[in-house]
Amino acid sequence: MIEKPDMLDFSLEEVEQAVQRLGQPGYRAKQILKWLHKGVSHFDEMTDLPQAFRQSLNEQFQIGRIQILERHHSNTGDAIKYLFLLSDHNIIECVVMRYKYGNTLCLSTQVGCRMGCRFCASTINGLVRNLSAGEMMSQVIEVNRELEENGERRIGNLVLMGTGEPLDNYSNTVKFIKMVHYPMGINMSYRNITLSTCGLAPRMIELADEGLPVTLSVSLHAPNDKLRRFIMPAASVYPIIDVIEASRYYYEKTGRRITFEYILIKDLNDRKEHAEELAELIKGFPSHVNIIPANEVSGLDFRRSPERTIQRFIRELESRGVVVTRRRELGLDIEGACGQLRRSRLTGRRNQRYER
Ligand code: SF4
Repeated sequence: MIEKPDMLDFSLEEVEQAVQRLGQPGYRAKQILKWLHKGVSHFDEMTDLPQAFRQSLNEQFQIGRIQILERHHSNTGDAIKYLFLLSDHNIIECVVMRYKYGNTLCLSTQVGCRMGCRFCASTINGLVRNLSAGEMMSQVIEVNRELEENGERRIGNLVLMGTGEPLDNYSNTVKFIKMVHYPMGINMSYRNITLSTCGLAPRMIELADEGLPVTLSVSLHAPNDKLRRFIMPAASVYPIIDVIEASRYYYEKTGRRITFEYILIKDLNDRKEHAEELAELIKGFPSHVNIIPANEVSGLDFRRSPERTIQRFIRELESRGVVVTRRRELGLDIEGACGQLRRSRLTGRRNQRYER
């Protein structure tokens, strides 16, 4: 049987075309998107549309839904991790992080990842497939719906930092960013969206040219190519100097300060000379370094740097004029690091699909 197209995957222009094909005025597209992004699961719930039109929509389209499979609340109450079941039985995860200023959602852009970062659980079994823009939207919609049901604030910030390399799924990711910004729907400001990349330099430049002023967070994790290639095999393709140049270009085009992520790993990239080299590398345009003490993932060798080493590294950077933040560690008791919970769920199964 041929599957009906999923309207959650549609941009405004695509919904307008569909509406016109069905002989309806163009403004119906915004009405439909308002309902879709609010989280309705059936066209019949779109009560301001004529009944015959709803019937035609039912016949020609579906509203793809992802299903909450598990939710885990951290003991401290500052994070909720969700496992979602996709329509093809793949599993993805996302995390809600509660901050004083509001709720942030860290969402996935791929099932698995092929970038191979050695500290990351998401990449252990490679890439399964890209997520569609609608599947990314669904993560926001489902979480918003649940937060609202519980009398909580909706998601105010998005970070594309869950499983997957967003720029490896470029067109769907850019489509999603535009869709989540629609005023009739989620209405997320571009400035409240952060996209994290492991440094796909040509795609960073392409993104700069899109004119979407999202914050770019670039994973460096090492101050030179040799060490970076060891930690992140994808760095073999894009030398660190190209990544820095692409970051500078992004800043110049968008005016957005770049965040450089640096995961501190015991006895690997946490020495004084690494801090010196890093400060030298990134000087010259507005940026800051976000230090992430490594999460220890079962099956992976990397260990977290001791607290005094973390403090020393931060001091070294600051003494060289670098603006440094340290990532707040939320949800450690619920396997908060990228891909850990999904991996635990899949461990022991025959493949990466969830068998019910
Ligand atoms: S850290 Fe991100 S880019 Fe690297 S393997 Fe994990 S999901 Fe992929």
